[in-house]
Amino acid sequence: MGHCFDRAKANVGTDEAMLLATQLLGVSFTELYTERGRQLPLADVEKLNSAIQRRLCGEPIAYITGYRMFRKLDLRVSPAVLIPRFETELLVDVVLEHTSNGGRVLDLGTGSGAIAIALSKTKDLQVVAIDNDERALQVCAENCNEHEANVELVRSNWFENVKGCFDIIVSNPPYVAADDPHLVEGDLRFEPSSALVGGLSGLEHLEKIITSAMNFLNPGGWLVVEHGYDQQTSVKELFADRGYANIQQRQDYTDTPRVMWGQARGR
Ligand code: GLN
Repeated sequence: MGHCFDRAKANVGTDEAMLLATQLLGVSFTELYTERGRQLPLADVEKLNSAIQRRLCGEPIAYITGYRMFRKLDLRVSPAVLIPRFETELLVDVVLEHTSNGGRVLDLGTGSGAIAIALSKTKDLQVVAIDNDERALQVCAENCNEHEANVELVRSNWFENVKGCFDIIVSNPPYVAADDPHLVEGDLRFEPSSALVGGLSGLEHLEKIITSAMNFLNPGGWLVVEHGYDQQTSVKELFADRGYANIQQRQDYTDTPRVMWGQARGR
């Protein structure tokens, strides 16, 4: 016997309920519109109801479906990794603008592998991705397999286990200040704090990365980082103070300063 799913009772927005239905039941948006009276197997209704309950508790859709789009990639995500953001696609753009085929690239704190995989699928690069969290590396490995991306994965606390030098080092590190009220609101409540919080100032990891990256960049190589909406001045000072040249920055799609990069001088 078929069962009807009553979205009205669920009190979740139509768009979200439809998105969950397409992703979890494998039906298209067109079918949702054209087959409104279709009866579903009980198991599907239960699956959808449980997803709606999780959504009602505020859980991000990406964790419920297990997937999130990043550039052209459908990436697997779990609560062990940050959900890739649209603005992080800018880091990929900047790296692509500053590297040529064959270049050696390091992605620090790769999480789901979004940056590393997008890079390796777009250009012929030698990409190394590190993360200090074994569960995150597992998610990243699954994504590399799924997308047949040639990325070398290394477990490392920032540069601890990194070998050799790179033409570009890229990172979207944890940069939210520990007392930022956003951490207890919305999606951020569900994401790993190890991927979000950059100490009391928010700048702890950025400072470590900007300081150490110099030792792992080829002469003329670039360090590209994402930073918080109010960290532009501090991050620029860190780049300048640690001796980087040609420091540049880019705003995200909401005109918020978001990405900064600088060049290692010849040693
Ligand atoms: N951009 C993320 C946010 O909105 C933070 C990601 C990070 O810390 N790297 O909150």
